[in-house]
Amino acid sequence: MERPGLVTLDPSLLEIATSAKGFMPDDEGLALYEAALKAATRGPLLEIGSYCGKSAVYLGAAAKEAGSTLYSVDHHRGSEENQPGQEYHDPDLVDEEGRVDTLPWFRSTIEEAGLANWVIGIVGSSPKVARAWATPLSMVFIDGGHSSAAATADYEAWTPKLMSEGLLAIHDVFPDPADGGRPPFEIYQRALVGAFEDVSACGSLRVLRKIGEVA
Ligand code: SAH
Ligand code: MG
Repeated sequence: MERPGLVTLDPSLLEIATSAKGFMPDDEGLALYEAALKAATRGPLLEIGSYCGKSAVYLGAAAKEAGSTLYSVDHHRGSEENQPGQEYHDPDLVDEEGRVDTLPWFRSTIEEAGLANWVIGIVGSSPKVARAWATPLSMVFIDGGHSSAAATADYEAWTPKLMSEGLLAIHDVFPDPADGGRPPFEIYQRALVGAFEDVSACGSLRVLRKIGEVA
């Protein structure tokens, strides 16, 4: 498996990505950027899980350099663990009615990064958006809901939309259950049975290449 090398991201974009609220360590963000740079020359990129735009800056920077586009899908109401009272709730991210709303934060991150022409936010439920999706994708990044149902739905809905040799990135893959929840690891393992091969790994980020039809 490849080890991600040292790619250089525009320092002002790196600063915006590292300071945005979110769940992507800097080294994993750079590994994501590096993978996306290779993919983006072949077609558009899509991520599930925009949150406040952190990963979208890494992916969007690659889209811009390659003359491509990132589609970033999120209902912006937060995952289970982001809800009030849960482990990853952030009280800054609630609207007047007390509901999680990350859309204003996402917008402001992307505009501050000057990436609005290359990053298109899509507000809605991931499997519903996928149902209407016809454009072949060069890369899909799965970082949405972490329940088994959500991770499986994202895998099944989006991997068929990848072009041949397209890249699938999955976040929060923890081979050791002591480090975190199982569903992202489970879809990663499922991907390796026939349809994908490993490309690179960095922290909990895995990048795979599509080499067959999705089962
Ligand atoms: N990529 C982000 C983190 C994403 S957190 C970063 O770099 O920081 C996970 C996000 O997935 C949350 O914002 C949540 O609202 C979204 N999400 C969870 N389930 C979803 C679904 N079924 N459809 C769309 N978005 C979903
Ligand atoms: Mg994540």
